[in-house]
Amino acid sequence: MIGVLGGTFDPVHFGHLRAAVELREALGLDEVRLLPCGSPPHRDPPVASGADRRAMLEAAIAGEPGLAVDARELERPGPSYMVDTLASLRAELGHQEPLCLLVGSDAFAGLDRWHEWRRIPELAHLVVARRPGADLPGTGAVAELLAARRVHEVAALRTRPAGRILIQPVTLLDISATRIRALLAAGRSVRYLLPEAALEIVRARRLYGAGA
Ligand code: ATP
Repeated sequence: MIGVLGGTFDPVHFGHLRAAVELREALGLDEVRLLPCGSPPHRDPPVASGADRRAMLEAAIAGEPGLAVDARELERPGPSYMVDTLASLRAELGHQEPLCLLVGSDAFAGLDRWHEWRRIPELAHLVVARRPGADLPGTGAVAELLAARRVHEVAALRTRPAGRILIQPVTLLDISATRIRALLAAGRSVRYLLPEAALEIVRARRLYGAGA
């Protein structure tokens, strides 16, 4: 069973990586694929190029078994719709293999604004990484989807290829890429917020206004 964690990764940081490792262990995933978004339909374009974001991700996960970078959205022209990405993964994995889309609880709450969102549970399970105590949607279309499809055991994800929703508590470190970019632009230190190997690329390529 594999998991995918989509994001802009502009840049990747320990919040993403810690969540990926914890979800991999908790769900017993063979692999978590970090999937950098090419052209996000719902937000401003990333600051760093796809090639730079991919290089930072690859440097960040080097040597960590079970984490991989999946660059298919960078290689595909046009807006990066998750439904298209899941369909392409599904075509590779076949119709039996369980596939988990890993999302933060904030992203999950806005799922009904994603392109063709009703197709997403047909293609993958949803695993919602939840900060202990954070609210889940109580009303609306996403709350109804959750009520209809929620399971409480990881084992329930293995008996079907897609369609179930598991809420999984994880440690959410209070780190954001927005904050890292702001610190770099202000000439301040970002050490210990992201892996040193990714930071070396930020410095070498002078990303986000960083000095060398
Ligand atoms: P930005 O600040 O530019 O919006 P971000 O730091 O929120 O970026 P994204 O690349 O947008 O990072 O996030 C990708 C995925 O990682 C999302 O599912 C998001 O919920 C999750 N994520 C982001 N930050 C954290 C964090 N600190 N801990 C756990 N998960 C996180």
